[in-house]
Amino acid sequence: AIYPTGITPKSLKPPEQKVYDLIVKRFLATFGDWAMRETITVAIAVKDEIFIAKGTTTKERGWHVLYEPYVNLKEEELPPLAAGDEIVIKKITLLKKETQPPKRYTESSLVKELEKRGLGTKSTRAAIIETLFQRGYVAEKSLQATKLGIRIVTVLSKYSPEIIDEQLTKRFDEDMELIIEDKKKEEEILDGAKDVLTGILTKFRKQEKSIGAELREAWQETQDKQNTLGDCPICKKGKLVIKKGKYGLFIACNQYPECTTTFKLPQNGLVKPADAVCEACSTPMILVVRKKKRPEKLCINPACPTKKLTTEEKKEVKAAADKPCPKCGTGTLVLRTSVYGSFLGCSNYPKCRHTEQLNG
Ligand SMILES: [Zn+2]
Ligand SMILES: [Zn+2]
Ligand SMILES: [Zn+2]
Repeated sequence: AIYPTGITPKSLKPPEQKVYDLIVKRFLATFGDWAMRETITVAIAVKDEIFIAKGTTTKERGWHVLYEPYVNLKEEELPPLAAGDEIVIKKITLLKKETQPPKRYTESSLVKELEKRGLGTKSTRAAIIETLFQRGYVAEKSLQATKLGIRIVTVLSKYSPEIIDEQLTKRFDEDMELIIEDKKKEEEILDGAKDVLTGILTKFRKQEKSIGAELREAWQETQDKQNTLGDCPICKKGKLVIKKGKYGLFIACNQYPECTTTFKLPQNGLVKPADAVCEACSTPMILVVRKKKRPEKLCINPACPTKKLTTEEKKEVKAAADKPCPKCGTGTLVLRTSVYGSFLGCSNYPKCRHTEQLNG
């Protein structure tokens, strides 16, 4: 959740001001009173055909007052009617329309759907969706099931339908609520759940091999897709993919051994394709996600012009070569490059891991 800190921002640009205003008002609105809306539905019989008219109006504005001008609700008032009233048909228009397929779920509409179906609890729903992403079952902002996600459901409904059974999940989540509300004892519910789960897992174990075999191909395909950065800038034929080697993750062209292009990857943090190429050198970029840091988009090309040293930095490198490493005393500091750019590192690496930033 995003909330204002209480520090009044100075000199915001108009678009930033708008976003800030939205955040503040949204925050305040959560403390507002309930708003009350009234919906009137009228069923009108024309011969034997039933036509529906609906109108919703706000009765009590509650939190809406705090959330202006962002309240986005229509006010539709129907003329006063009572049951049994006869109305006059003024005009009949025939409209030709096609039904639209439902929109894909977004993270927030999926949370709402889970709520509606009684799946997950307030504190677990966001984490459930996060898990879907992490395991590669879904991708994109408007959620799309990956081949792996679809395959998982197909395979599990064949071998272990209980695992993906909504009713079972719903029961566990309801039980969880009962514990929270002190209506049932933890032990009682846990014992029951253990019995059910032991049964399901014993059955699953016996079929583990067949399940794995059926998932393998879809897993590989989804994995490849999620690990592909873009076109290889050297051979222009292959694709650059993230691979796991002896020394951790690195990038290689999938046309190996014909193309032996490789790039280094940072070993700290989660690396994903950024789905973009560097503006300066047209090499694919990566997104590095590290704890407590904003995700960083980086060009993987160490020779990228954006990573060239400035004159000041070149002087620093020269000066460092004449002084011993402050940590081990025997090495000297030499220029090293990584995807993050250039830095000074001890010549005794990997024995001595001392590094210094360039200040230029
Ligand atoms: Zn290549
Ligand atoms: Zn670049
Ligand atoms: Zn050293």
